[in-house]
Amino acid sequence: AKREGGGRARSFERAMGEDVAARQRDQADLRAALTNEELVLHYQPIIDLAEARTTHAEALVRWRHPGRGLLGPDRFIGLAEETGLIVPLGAHVLRSACGQAVRWQRGGHPLGVAVNVSPWQLAGEAFPRQVDELLTTTGLEAGLLTVEVTESVWADEAAMRVLMDVRDLGVRIALDDFGTGYSSLNYLRRYPFDLVKIDKSFTDGLGEDDRTEGVVRCIIDLAAVLGARTVAEGVETPDQARWLRDAGCGYLQGYLFGRPDLPENWHPGLLTDPQRL
Ligand code: C2E
Ligand code: CA
Ligand code: CA
Ligand code: CA
Repeated sequence: AKREGGGRARSFERAMGEDVAARQRDQADLRAALTNEELVLHYQPIIDLAEARTTHAEALVRWRHPGRGLLGPDRFIGLAEETGLIVPLGAHVLRSACGQAVRWQRGGHPLGVAVNVSPWQLAGEAFPRQVDELLTTTGLEAGLLTVEVTESVWADEAAMRVLMDVRDLGVRIALDDFGTGYSSLNYLRRYPFDLVKIDKSFTDGLGEDDRTEGVVRCIIDLAAVLGARTVAEGVETPDQARWLRDAGCGYLQGYLFGRPDLPENWHPGLLTDPQRL
């Protein structure tokens, strides 16, 4: 039995060794991707219901992998966070998105950009200064930048202070995937923020499930009381869009209006035409 156990331990070690090797390869690939400009941003339109037009766009990162094709963020953000590469990756995303916002402005159709920020980027004091420098060098108006964070940052007091320093610059703060994590009314009460993003799992239930509809109404009302506006994610049908409009939601985002894509592939009407519901 002892020998068998030793054999299992050896093969386990070998498997671990391969795992480590594969991880190191992936990590080296991702590091190279950063310098080789293989990371590209797709943008998804966000429709302001009061104006019935596209006023913002969310930047969503993709990896144009030389061997594996176009990879979505779910395939590499986890690795980036585990290895610390999320910090340079996040800085690259932020810089690119601000550059795109400036191009839209020069093109005569100014749009705000929303950027996903990992809690790791809020560790230490560097982030607010980076954002400030970027706004100065690009000339982008602070109000045209939104930083999206998930509920996971709330419990971290230091990260919240860093986030509030960014907000003091005039940048908008959005709570992403609201209601899916450990939302606490206590945090909502303590920290000012600008937008609440209603997760797609809630949008999916509209017109289907009374309890979901009740919760979504409460999120919209709660946000209003706290001086924030709501963005509904994953809007795929006109019925969902109309329900959200009638409930007082601020913005809509989803495949109904446009999938994330390179700005040059956007349907021109997304920038110029009013969106009818
Ligand atoms: P998220 O921030 O919640 O982004 C929304 C996700 O829903 C995106 O997936 C988007 O393509 C997808 N989506 C939007 N509308 C619809 C719809 O109508 N139907 C369906 N089925 N899906 C829709 P994506 O692009 O795969 O991004 C996944 C997640 O990766 C994001 O979730 C975000 O948490 C993360 N992520 C993306 N870019 C970045 C980044 O630059 N930095 C960091 N830290 N995370 C990022
Ligand atoms: Ca987001
Ligand atoms: Ca989200
Ligand atoms: Ca999500």
